Amino acid sequence: LSPTAERPAERFLRLWSEVADLGKAAEVLGWDQETYMPPKGQAARARLLGTLAALRHERMVSAKLRDAIEAAAQAAEPASALAAQAREARRIVTKLASVPTRLARELAEARSNGQAVWQEARREADFARFRPALERVFELTREAAQHMALDASNPYDALLDDYEPGTTTAELAPLFERLRASLAAMVQAVVGSGVVVDERPVRGHYPPERQLAFCRAAAEGIGFDFEAGRLDRAVHPFCSGFDPGDVRITWRWMEEDFRSGLFGVLHEAGHGLYEQGLPREWQRTPIGDAASMGLHESQSRLWENQVGRSRAFWRWALPLLHEQFPDKRALGIDELWPTLNAVQPSLIRVEADEGTYDLHIAIRFDLERALFADELAIDELPGAWNDAYEELLGIRPANDAEGVLQDLHWSAGAFGYFPTYTLGNMMKAQLYTAARRDLGDLDSAFARGEFAPLLEWLRDRVHRHGARFRAKELVERASGRPLSADDHLAARAATVEAVYGVTV
Ligand code: ZN
Repeated sequence: LSPTAERPAERFLRLWSEVADLGKAAEVLGWDQETYMPPKGQAARARLLGTLAALRHERMVSAKLRDAIEAAAQAAEPASALAAQAREARRIVTKLASVPTRLARELAEARSNGQAVWQEARREADFARFRPALERVFELTREAAQHMALDASNPYDALLDDYEPGTTTAELAPLFERLRASLAAMVQAVVGSGVVVDERPVRGHYPPERQLAFCRAAAEGIGFDFEAGRLDRAVHPFCSGFDPGDVRITWRWMEEDFRSGLFGVLHEAGHGLYEQGLPREWQRTPIGDAASMGLHESQSRLWENQVGRSRAFWRWALPLLHEQFPDKRALGIDELWPTLNAVQPSLIRVEADEGTYDLHIAIRFDLERALFADELAIDELPGAWNDAYEELLGIRPANDAEGVLQDLHWSAGAFGYFPTYTLGNMMKAQLYTAARRDLGDLDSAFARGEFAPLLEWLRDRVHRHGARFRAKELVERASGRPLSADDHLAARAATVEAVYGVTV
């Protein structure tokens, strides 16, 4: 090795920083597309994104990068950051490279077509119209998963691993079984209680510019840094992080109910706090991003649901609400709080409350596994879907738009994604319980608008580690025990008891 020669680690990290930049550039363009791009820019934007994706893919699977990864892995001290960087890089690149170019291209086309056909089919509530496109996406996704899988007999796990690295069906199945039984019993108890939460006190007229001021104050209050982020309007709320110094969140609102806008903002700000807390020194490396989708979702749901739906939060936030909407000065915590924690079986996942949300996910997880196990055919999906809703939630979709056609995920080939939402719920409850154990009385701090102790705890236990450790490892280290459904179910039971007076 001559003194001027690049060391293996430097070479690997230099090559990786370029593919990371290509990925982030595409994300900036994606954010722009969803916020400010005029409609006639669509075709040009699709070409731009296509070029960036092709360049990135070419570099990702190049022999140059793969050799550099292996050399760095050889040189890395065990348990070092470099070892974790090489591990993550190898996992990502090996999976990408295992899918033949022909298949990758067919899959990209089938996904793009699938999403277009899905939009029409959902509008018409017509599954038959979607079926051929979905069959194609499913078959190609399964074929790709078989190439990616370490165990070819279990392609579904290779897809789970895309979103939740290291997680398997064998780990998830018992967690879901427990959740399903307990939550279904809670929903039955709620329905049987006869208690109906009065929603009328929160309904009213909430002008958007005042809602925006209120939502910004809430996001700022919990610690979202507007010097390192933005809040813009979009059709669907989302969060994009290009760097801890540049994190974009979006929102939408309902004129007659402030809750939709506010909880959307708290959710995306929770994602944003994670992005703003990612390790600066590992940016543009394979461990600079979030550890998993589930862990990301745990951060958004922690701020939205554990903090934002607590009485303590509203001791601070209610005066801010009154300030923006003086005609709501009579609205007190005792009227407001039950409306934030009501449980009501419903058909649409994205509108579901916390008490029923995981049942929506359990249904999708069951159907996905059945499809991959050849126990269910695509044309049997609508019927199986409707039966599952009837069994678990006691309601049956009137048509496929409010049934099997409601989510975009499958049209885009994102099988194995849904379970991360429920993993996020379990992780957030376990992390929040651990934070309260470590920090003591958070409620009086929240009532004073002090959220920094909780944020600092999350920064230390979760955010600053990036993807150096697996999500479940981080949760276990923070809470002192393996991930389980216990804290999530305990929190649900306590809420149900407080709102409905039933013990489950
Ligand atoms: Zn989210």
